[in-house]
Order: sequence, then C-alpha cells, then structure tokens
Amino acid sequence: MLIVQKYGGTSVGSVDRIKNVARRGASTKEMGNELVVVVSAMAGETDRLLNLAYQITDTPNERELDVILATGEQVSIGLLALALQALGHKARSFTGSQVKIQTDRSYTRARIMSIDADRIRQALREGEVAIVAGFQGVTAEEDVTTLGRGGSDLTAVALAAALNAEVCEIYTDVDGVYTADPNVVPEAKRLSRISYDEMLELASLGAKVLQTRSVEYAKIHHVPILVRSSFVESEGTYVLWEDKAMERVVVSGIAYDKNQARITVTRVVDRPGVAAKLFGAVAETGIVVDMIVQNSSQDGFTDISFTVSKTDFQKAYEVIAKIAREIGAGEVLGDDRIAKVSIVGVGMRTHSGVAAKMFDALARHNINIMMISTSEIAVSCVIDAKFAELAVRVLHEAFQLGEGRG
Ligand code: ADP
Ligand code: ASP
Ligand code: MG
Repeated sequence: MLIVQKYGGTSVGSVDRIKNVARRGASTKEMGNELVVVVSAMAGETDRLLNLAYQITDTPNERELDVILATGEQVSIGLLALALQALGHKARSFTGSQVKIQTDRSYTRARIMSIDADRIRQALREGEVAIVAGFQGVTAEEDVTTLGRGGSDLTAVALAAALNAEVCEIYTDVDGVYTADPNVVPEAKRLSRISYDEMLELASLGAKVLQTRSVEYAKIHHVPILVRSSFVESEGTYVLWEDKAMERVVVSGIAYDKNQARITVTRVVDRPGVAAKLFGAVAETGIVVDMIVQNSSQDGFTDISFTVSKTDFQKAYEVIAKIAREIGAGEVLGDDRIAKVSIVGVGMRTHSGVAAKMFDALARHNINIMMISTSEIAVSCVIDAKFAELAVRVLHEAFQLGEGRG
C-alpha cells in the first residue's frame, strides 16, 4: 500500500518528537507499505520567522516573506531523514521545488497548479521513505512560494492525489476530529467519520484541525483523509463522502473563529450602486468579505456592516473610510473584538428549527448576537469575542453533542 503521512508542527516540535515520528514511519514501512512523509516546521517556527520579517517592516514583500517562511519545513525534512536513517531505513528529503509542486505566483497563499512526483516515485522504487517539505511550492520562474497557513495539510493531500495513495493520514496533537475543539470543550466527542462537506464547513468556520483548502482538494480528487494523533494510538477520524448514517445527524459540530473583525458604515444613502462601490473597492485590494448585513432603510439612509478577517481589518477600514467620505456616508466604525460561532451539520438540509434553537441557547446565557448568516449546512452568529468559548460550550450542550454519538 502507498501511504502519505503528514506530521504537524507539534508532532515534530523537538528532536525527541522527530525521533518518535521516525519510529512511526519505520513501523509503517516495516509492515510492507510504501511511505511518503510530509512534515511541517517545528512548532512555533513559522510564527518566529514571520515575526523576524515584521521586525524589519510592517509591509514585507511577499516574495521575500515566502523565501523566509519556507525555511522552517526544510529543517524538519532534513532532521527526519537523519532520524529514519539512524533507525536503519533508507530515507531521502525533498523540498517543494525538488518535487516540482508547481504553483501560481500568489505568494503566501499560492495555489497548486501541478505536481510532477517523478523523483518521489523513483525514491519509492528504490525502497526509500520520501520525506517532503509541507507548505511550499515553486513557480514556473523557480521562485519559492507558500500555500497559506496550515498548508502542509494541502501538500499531503495533493501528493496523495498525485501518487494515487490509499489514504492520506494527518497526524496531529488531537486524536481525530471532534464535535468541537477538545481544548475548549472537554466533553467533545471524537467523530469516527465526517463528510467532506461538513469538514469543509467546519474548517472554513474556524476548526483549524485541517486546512480548508486541503479538504476542498481531497473532495475534488477523492482522497480519503484519516486524522489521528502522533502521540497516542487511536482509530482517528475518516473524512470521506457522506453516507446514510451521517444524514441522520442534524448538527455534527461547533466551530468558532476569533480571527474576525467588523466594519460598519452608518448613514449610507439608499440608492442603487452604493454597495457595489463600497465592496468593489474592498474587492480590488484582494480582501475577502465574509458576512454582510444591511439595515432596512429609514428616511433614505441605511447602515451597512460586514466582516473581514482580523488580518485584513486595518487595510479594509482604510479603503472603506475613503469611499465613505466620497459618497458622503456617516461614520465608519470598526470592531476587532468579535468572534464567529457556527453550528454545522448535513442534517440541517432537512430539519427546521435548528437556527432558532441556536439563538435560544445563546440568549439564555445573555450572549448578544450581532450578525447572523446561514448556508445549506451551517448557521453562524457574530458575538463579542469574550464569549466565544462560552458560546461553543453552550451550543455543544444545547445540541447534546457530548452524548449518544458514535
Ligand atoms: P498541526 O500543527 O498538527 O497541523 P493544528 O494546530 O493545525 O495542528 O490543528 C490541531 C488543533 O485543532 C487541535 O489542537 C485543536 O485545538 C484544534 N481543533 C479545532 N477544532 C477542532 C475539532 N473540531 N476537532 C479537533 N481539533 C480541533
Ligand atoms: N508551518 C506552516 C504553518 O505554521 C504550515 C503548516 O504547519 O501546515 O502555517
Ligand atoms: Mg495544522
């Protein structure tokens, strides 16, 4: 069997842990499998590198930022190769450019265009464990790129697809995907399986256990993912196509995201083209707008609120303030102490009253809802950031996710 395993930052956070990963890899190999291992930078390393860049400038050039960020993973692959060799196994490390993980030129969030895994196939044929640096790719001009935070998950899934691997195993510091972040809700339950669609929604709504784009890629290329712990033995969680048993569950999980900020423009004249002007200006900067709420018009004026990620807040605020002046709007208010809590489940497609139950649970704990949005399989509320964890626990209990689930 050809298996792709990915180990996250915590799992390779020290030399001892890298030796532990090598032992896991070795036993997979000894069972007769072909093995490709993708690794992240050691825990905290990517943040440390980012911080170095920001000590030089507030607006680092993104091409250079990627040159810096990609070094973290390179250390990990070299160390893991040494550790496997020390156990008597043949192992060889590869950077993103050696594997030819070809991407576009969107530095810091590059998209994979193609993978030419010939060198990996060659290594496997020679009985070696192929160790690949996660999170990095290379442009047609041979510039280094990175795939967005958490991007090693994507490297692993994309390699599993390219090599037609049996499974992509994601080893992390929790033993699977839970009904909510187990570090916030101790009663959270591990799910034995979850559909791509639910996982996609959970990930994009803040559950960082898998990077959103990796789940998207897995869904498109039919790669089964198994999320497991690198520290304890456990069955883990399979991410795959929806099946009959999953459909019966109304709410599968709760996610939250504190990387959110809200901008409100008051007294906007209520006439065609105004929203287009405001959001057109934001779109031009490449900033993604999430929720948008427009109040009903009073005396020809309305208020428009929207959310962006906290990292885009300052830039979005400046752009909007400028347009607001041009169109003669009232004030522009910003708030970056908000959070988004969401409930997710495929069963919502066929059940009513789910949103009402969510609002009721929050109300009973005096948590005020500032904004609401819904999709086919999720409901999200924007609340004060200081209530985020409480809200997750309250909702987990209201939907009884801790009990009777398998
Ligand atoms: P890695 O460094 O291995 O990629 P991450 O920190 O990116 O690990 O992801 C693992 C973390 O995801 C866990 O420590 C946990 O706090 C968080 N998490 C959030 N939501 C969930 C969830 N529903 N199930 C499991 N883990 C979750
Ligand atoms: N090291 C990168 C990050 O911290 C990629 C990853 O860990 O998946 O975002
Ligand atoms: Mg991760």
